[in-house]
Amino acid sequence: MPGSIAGTLNLLLLIMIVPIVLILAAFFYGGYNDRRAAEFKANLELARAVAAAFDAHIDDIVRQELAIGLAMTGSLGQPASEAGVYLVANAGAYATVRDFSWLTAQGTAVFSSDPRSVGLNFADRRYFQAVAAGKEWAASDLLMDKAKGQPVFVVARGIRDSQGRLQGVVTAVIDSNRLGDLLPVARAEQASVGVSDGRGWGVYRYPEVPMTWEQRNWIAQDPTVAPALAGKEVTGTFVWFYDGQTRMVARVPIRSIGWVAGAASLEAETMAPVIRDTATEFGLVLFVVLGAFLLSLTIGRHLTAPLQRLREHAVAVGQGDFEQHVAVAKPAELRDLANAFNIMAGEIGLREEEREGYVHAISHDLRNPLTAVQGQAQLLLHRAEKAELPAYVQTGAEAVLVSARRMNVMIQDLVDTARLQSGQLRLNTRPLALAPFLDEAIERLSGSQEAERVRIDLAPDLPLVLADPDRLERVVVNLLSNALKYSAADSAVTVAARADGDQVVVSVTDQGAGIPPEEVPLVFERFYRAEGTREHREGLGLGLHIVRGLVEAHGGRTWVESQLGRGSTFHFTLPAQRGEEG
Ligand code: ADP
Repeated sequence: MPGSIAGTLNLLLLIMIVPIVLILAAFFYGGYNDRRAAEFKANLELARAVAAAFDAHIDDIVRQELAIGLAMTGSLGQPASEAGVYLVANAGAYATVRDFSWLTAQGTAVFSSDPRSVGLNFADRRYFQAVAAGKEWAASDLLMDKAKGQPVFVVARGIRDSQGRLQGVVTAVIDSNRLGDLLPVARAEQASVGVSDGRGWGVYRYPEVPMTWEQRNWIAQDPTVAPALAGKEVTGTFVWFYDGQTRMVARVPIRSIGWVAGAASLEAETMAPVIRDTATEFGLVLFVVLGAFLLSLTIGRHLTAPLQRLREHAVAVGQGDFEQHVAVAKPAELRDLANAFNIMAGEIGLREEEREGYVHAISHDLRNPLTAVQGQAQLLLHRAEKAELPAYVQTGAEAVLVSARRMNVMIQDLVDTARLQSGQLRLNTRPLALAPFLDEAIERLSGSQEAERVRIDLAPDLPLVLADPDRLERVVVNLLSNALKYSAADSAVTVAARADGDQVVVSVTDQGAGIPPEEVPLVFERFYRAEGTREHREGLGLGLHIVRGLVEAHGGRTWVESQLGRGSTFHFTLPAQRGEEG
């Protein structure tokens, strides 16, 4: 689980979005493959149609050649000029045929629709040799007609008598550029059809593009040509020299002549709609995802802002501010929480007020009778000292006075603890010179004999400290009375002070029993009293707690170093006033 509300929302979102993207990707993959397969299939069907049309045309020519041959050997026996005219008329009837010629059984052209051919011998040509060897008809591969600079091919048919002896050969020279009349298959965009010869060279392409002789070497450019020449229907892709683009192609054999027909289309064009659709879908999903993320961010903010306010409120309540109310309008659950919170803060505030009331009552209501007791005891003591009253009254009055003072101190401790705890303590800080302050404080210490044990040891250039004199006196008195209380009656107690950076460290050292190491961390705790001290010495275990609270309220800190049997030193720091000497 992520650590925040917004994080959790985003995780949920992610959990939803990842499958959607995966499904989309699967759809895209499926659609892409289907589209490819469909395109290959369409190309294959078209290639078959081209092959069939080409086949039919060759078939037509071969049949016409038979008619011409029969006319030449049979009834026609006309003079040369008339035979030439006859051949010209035939050639004119076929858009693709440039010339018909009549060759003798030895391969010499005797009649031709092209006068330049007459007298030439074609006995070395492979198609002629195939026919002479007994084939009914044969075709050449693509040739370059040097005279006219045209790519052409020849279809030759042998004419035989009833004994099968070759009488002559009819040839048709077909201009490959004119095959457009035969195969005008208009295709969308850059798609094409084509025919290649028995060596795999390009004979014709529609739409037509100018091709050099070398560029007709299709078998070198397209891996599907060779298997088609071997008699298989093939599909595949190749990069065409002409534009460097990848094409999806299907090729089928043209069986009668041993050539190949093909149909191709531009891969980028074919696949573009699929890719465009998918891009649109992904774009939409991305849009939705972004929207959802923004929404979850906003929702996260809506949730965290009131939580933040509640947190601040809780901190304020902890510091004693019960007046503030936290207001949350939405969501309902957080509004309820805020209401509960306000109610709770109110209740705590009430309790705190009650406690203040008690503290006030204790400090005033207990002190007033105590003051009366002290006053009366003082009066008795005074009179006893003047010998107006019996001696035992003096002893009694002294005992009453000591107890009353202790009680006063304890009441003060309880009140201070309550104030420290509720954060109600208000300091009255001012710059203070420690030397005179300590002198006076020690003077005021109860029991003048005890005060005599205290030595003061101040560093010479001590700066002024920033402190509330009344509170500082409580700190010093508490530490001193502990030092006096927990050490032998004749041992010395030292108050020392020295500057340390922008602070002054005050230390109270005694030569008492010391504090066991395991108890050292506990002595500043509220109501903590060490083992053994409980029965023998009086106290509430609040003195050091108050010391720490007051020192910390001044921005200082307290700590103790103690050695069993040797004594203890309590330290505390106070902020020094800069640039001034005390
Ligand atoms: P109290 O003195 O009322 O018991 P304090 O908070 O002043 O409470 O002190 C807590 C405890 O720490 C004392 O009970 C005592 O065991 C121990 N302690 C305090 N000061 C000294 C000291 N100077 N030497 C030895 N132990 C001390």
